[in-house]
Amino acid sequence: MKIMMLGAPGVGKGTIAKRLVARYNTPQLSTGDMLREAVKGGTEVGLQAKGYMDAGELVPDDVVIGVIGERLKRPDVNDGFILDGYPRTIPQAEALAAITDLDVVIRLTASDETIVERLSGRRIAEDGTIYHIKNFPPPPDVKVIQRDDDKEQAIRQRLFVYRKQTAPLVEYYRDKGALKDIDADASRTVDEIFEDCCSVL
Ligand code: AMP
Repeated sequence: MKIMMLGAPGVGKGTIAKRLVARYNTPQLSTGDMLREAVKGGTEVGLQAKGYMDAGELVPDDVVIGVIGERLKRPDVNDGFILDGYPRTIPQAEALAAITDLDVVIRLTASDETIVERLSGRRIAEDGTIYHIKNFPPPPDVKVIQRDDDKEQAIRQRLFVYRKQTAPLVEYYRDKGALKDIDADASRTVDEIFEDCCSVL
């Protein structure tokens, strides 16, 4: 199945995508992870992307479309995939549509308050496990980092960018009949949100 996770930064796309990967044994394609790898590796894409990422801006469409286009050529995606963080603009969605259709677009929704709380408390371990300083604190022996763009100034910028550039995708995919809305607000547990997602697949 070809699935896309849509929603504001911090709404839980990555967390839910990881659980879907485990249940459905299908690859997760996170452009954020791919770009962070590229930055770490000092590649040309990384050099192009870094400034935008640190500022909480979107990396230019041509760069991201190139990255995902290469990834979608690999054979492990033939039976399906979970897109996490892509597409984020209408031109990206159109570039994707030229390569493949999506079966389901899962949109996670939450209040701004929930999102800012989740992002500012988010900490990430070396193995990719996502913790939260209050809700899911890392064990004392696990080394975690805070992403530079999880600091307050960048969070606000990312939310602004989401509304302006990514939110139009909600109508784009609703018109295509692919959109499923899932309530991911703070009153709900990750297990509940995950089960809701499974029930629409
Ligand atoms: P994420 O981990 O999905 O929150 O992405 C982190 C950052 O990577 C974003 O704030 C953007 O700077 C960049 N990025 C990730 N995916 C995309 C995309 N589809 N289009 C443009 N920029 C992206």
